[in-house]
Amino acid sequence: MPLRIPFARVNWVNTVFLSVITLLALVASPIYLWHHGINWFQAGMMLFYIIATGMSITLGYHRLFSHLSFKAKWPVRLFTLVFGSCAFENSALNWCSDHRRHHKHTDHDDDPYNISNGFFWAHIGWILFKVNPEPPLDNVADLRKDKMVMWQHKWDKVIALVVGFLLPAGLGYLHSGPVGALGGFLLAGVLRVFLVQQCTFFINSLCHTVGRQPYSTRCSARDSFLMSLFTFGEGYHNYHHEFQHDYRNGVKPWNFDPTKWAIWLLEKVGLASNLRRVPSSRVVLAEIRVARKKAEATLAKISNHHDHAWRESAERMAHELMERFSESCSEMEKALSDSVTHSKQAVETWRKEAREIIADLGRLRRRRMPLTV
Ligand SMILES: [Zn+2]
Ligand SMILES: [Zn+2]
Repeated sequence: MPLRIPFARVNWVNTVFLSVITLLALVASPIYLWHHGINWFQAGMMLFYIIATGMSITLGYHRLFSHLSFKAKWPVRLFTLVFGSCAFENSALNWCSDHRRHHKHTDHDDDPYNISNGFFWAHIGWILFKVNPEPPLDNVADLRKDKMVMWQHKWDKVIALVVGFLLPAGLGYLHSGPVGALGGFLLAGVLRVFLVQQCTFFINSLCHTVGRQPYSTRCSARDSFLMSLFTFGEGYHNYHHEFQHDYRNGVKPWNFDPTKWAIWLLEKVGLASNLRRVPSSRVVLAEIRVARKKAEATLAKISNHHDHAWRESAERMAHELMERFSESCSEMEKALSDSVTHSKQAVETWRKEAREIIADLGRLRRRRMPLTV
């Protein structure tokens, strides 16, 4: 079937901008590097811009402005608004409106980057094409009251061009003349925009396609350690969709989530406060519930297995697992509904129990279980 592009719906501004950025990043930047290499000043500036603009999206646009997962003093808000603009991902007001709709309507028609429309649509298609009619900005009333957010909304493109492109070119010029200016523009400007944008886009596409679902199977969101490496910790998307107001995306202490560490540090130096955390007991309960669902699905598969001896022992193990799931679940649900503050020790015991049951389930699903439980 021939590919039919709905030209009437193409957003030409976005399409031309993204095409030029892609072309310059993939062709002009390598040619520059081939001829002139990269000096320490340019490398440092590029690294600073990647971290500043990338984290302004994850820490600022996403966790602070979209989800209000903590409060921040004005220097943090100003910094993330200015460098957020430089990522060329629209103003914070627009970004947050899209993102809040994504959470409210995940996988459905009103989700702007609905993965059900395909990987390409969720990744970049939704930016290249206009939606008719354009959805109203009716879910960001709180941000409209924020003068700084409204200032950035008004000047977004100017800030992006001046601080995102002209400043690195100017600094490059001051350091090493016209060639340095070109290097600053191509490396800390264009190539950096391309890399940061693609990483953000992969959250909407890859993190709704590939990865694990330990906390919820309600929607397509998935946890991906690999993606967290490239997105300042935003790869733990399954957790994030289940507990969107938590300032952490990687909730486990060992999860690679530089954004949560940065927020924690900002709190320590008095620049952030009111960090929102989901109680550990609720997180463990979510894990147990998902594991129980998976155990039910595994049990259904086991009953169709051709090897009689294997099937019998697997079924025995699965039934025992199901019993343990039910016990743990009802014990935790009761404790949570009693709204008693749980001791650290109690939560730790549940967590340990949950981990053991989930590990047993994993063994069962991989069919490498011992014959006795
Ligand atoms: Zn998502
Ligand atoms: Zn979110």
